[in-house]
Amino acid sequence: MSLALDGKIAVITGGASGVGLGIAQEFADQGARVVITDLRQEALDRAVAEIGPRSSGIVADVTDIASMQAAYQQIMAQYGRLDAVVANAGIGAHAPLGAITEDQFDRTFGVNAKGVLFTVQPALPLLRPGGTVVVIGSTASIRPPRGMSLYGGAKAAVRAFIRSWIQDIQGSGIRINVLSPGAVDTDSLRSALAMAQGPEVVEAAIKVMGEGNPTGRIAQPREMGRAAAFLSSDAASFVTGVELFVDGGMAQV
Ligand code: NAD
Repeated sequence: MSLALDGKIAVITGGASGVGLGIAQEFADQGARVVITDLRQEALDRAVAEIGPRSSGIVADVTDIASMQAAYQQIMAQYGRLDAVVANAGIGAHAPLGAITEDQFDRTFGVNAKGVLFTVQPALPLLRPGGTVVVIGSTASIRPPRGMSLYGGAKAAVRAFIRSWIQDIQGSGIRINVLSPGAVDTDSLRSALAMAQGPEVVEAAIKVMGEGNPTGRIAQPREMGRAAAFLSSDAASFVTGVELFVDGGMAQV
């Protein structure tokens, strides 16, 4: 048993930046061929240049079922098989009760819940026994911050999804798990902090977040990559249906 993903073909949605990019880099280092999907070609090109020759990019929107099906067709045409799916694309919106709009609801659940469903469902017939799915959740599934009920609700939805899905696919040999990060040091986290508190306080805000964590810091994207690699590897052969919190202990205390 090893963490190695040698020769596996993996798709990572929203892989052009942040957590998804960290996962894609780790998977490539562990021997996988990674196909990252995202909304914009330029962002994909930059990410593929960063990850290296074991990667390629496909423009695909997880909320658009036809676009995801086309992405899988392209992967099958290129590689002939699929071994690992990471449903990572996600968005957050600050939306306090009393000011929640229908558009915020539709976009947050569209990407984080519907997008996960239509990333996973068309992949299942392509995966073989031993195939894996990792859905990127969030500690917001159990501890949604103030103003983040839509985001927390959508992340709670996916943890419920997979508990039912593993029963739906009983006997297939495919494992499905949720990996739920706490705060991860990404450009999106930094720009959210800059918007909320001002660009000059971002470093201080990251430090304060770290000090509130039992580990004393927030995570780096590669740490999500290593946990996702574990869940996608044979080392996790009897792990399915879990929500693995990779949060430095933050939501556990
Ligand atoms: P990010 O914005 O850096 O990355 C998300 C990527 O998804 C972007 O490249 C974006 O273009 C892409 N994307 C957005 N909508 C898409 C769509 N409809 N189709 C395809 N791609 C789309 O954000 P991140 O922080 O890296 O978040 C990645 C995942 O990690 C999300 O599911 C998020 O909820 C989760 N997460 C992040 C943190 C954190 O602190 N950064 C904490 C907990 C959970």
